[in-house]
Amino acid sequence: MGAHVRARRSCGNLMVRPLRYVTRYVTAPLVLAMAGAVAFPALAQQSAALDPSAFRQCVANLRSKAASEGISASVIGHAFDRIQPNPRVIELDRKQPEFMQTFWQYLDARVTDTRIQRGREMLSVHGSLLRDVEQRYGVQARYLVAFWALESNFGDYTGDMDVIESLTTLACDQRRSRYFESELMHALSIADEGSVSVEMMEGSWAGAMGQSQFMPSTFVRYAVDFDGDGRRDLWRSLPDVFASSANFLRSLGWRPGEEWGEEVILPAGFDYALADGSTDRTLIEWNRLGVRRANGDRLPESQYAGPILMPAGYRAPAFLLYPNFKIIKRWNNSNLYAIAVGHLADRIVGRGPFVKPRPPGEEPLRREEVEEIQRRLAMLGFDAGEPDGIVGPMTRAAARDFQRSVGMPADGYPNLDLLERLRRASRS
Ligand code: CA
Repeated sequence: MGAHVRARRSCGNLMVRPLRYVTRYVTAPLVLAMAGAVAFPALAQQSAALDPSAFRQCVANLRSKAASEGISASVIGHAFDRIQPNPRVIELDRKQPEFMQTFWQYLDARVTDTRIQRGREMLSVHGSLLRDVEQRYGVQARYLVAFWALESNFGDYTGDMDVIESLTTLACDQRRSRYFESELMHALSIADEGSVSVEMMEGSWAGAMGQSQFMPSTFVRYAVDFDGDGRRDLWRSLPDVFASSANFLRSLGWRPGEEWGEEVILPAGFDYALADGSTDRTLIEWNRLGVRRANGDRLPESQYAGPILMPAGYRAPAFLLYPNFKIIKRWNNSNLYAIAVGHLADRIVGRGPFVKPRPPGEEPLRREEVEEIQRRLAMLGFDAGEPDGIVGPMTRAAARDFQRSVGMPADGYPNLDLLERLRRASRS
């Protein structure tokens, strides 16, 4: 682990607090399903943002870029006059997940009994506001509460990093400088419009802001002033938070009144390759293949065609997906995140837990174990792509082919069973 570096503030006299809440790794969807982390402090030292003269030059460039985009001199001054790079941000950006969380670990951490209970209370306490927002934007109240719960635990954790400082650090770092420079310009424009001051703009280390954890570009395009006070305030105004989330979802194509998906039961002998989350079949066809609803009923005899997703192998629940599932993934491109939002929304309105029994003691895979799976698959002639410790479509397909070749259930899901079988197969 790298040395602990305290967050430093470039402006204002707010108390320095330890980082409580890191929302997301902005570019790597799969990373969201992973937990624990190893830092690579050596990499942090290589950041251009931490070289004083390179940082000064970078900030000078950012100032002129901001000026050329019409940001006022006063906002530019507040943002950059005393700015320093924050090494903690680089350290967090360089962290690699150590474990691949299991389906149950991911869901258990996010859809807790406490959260379901509080979600119900919030749905009732803010019922009239939520109904107004739902009427205006067509996004059901239970989903707005579920996003709010997952993003900031109902507004408890909105992040306390200085957003301008974080984004400037990342914009001056070489790794994803273009992306973060653009987010920084959007953040400055939010300050420029007067919605929030530079000093009050707090968020996650990667710049996600407010109770809905919008990145600045999302804020600029989709945040709305629903309480009519002239400012878009995702930190303190619940009307703005709910309406902004709903406006974002509606703009992405949310279908009013529709579900996100539902748990289904797959029959014995089902071809798991069909449940890859992208093979569309009509409900009539799924019925014919023996797929049933969680309560055992047949699916509606409908021409609607959608995919079945088995996010974590045949021992975990399978889901029939509806179009809103893709919309949730536009908010955060992770299957498990989308399932967590949908399931929490369902539980808040009294629907039951998953019916699929929980397998005993499933251990999370370490990143190096995933790499070993990838290497051994390749050794045996199943191309799993570059061994990178990240499970993607190539790894799943290679795993499925191997499983089929040795008579295992071909669900393409890497776990310790698979690793054991691969070790035996590559020894023989
Ligand atoms: Ca407002």
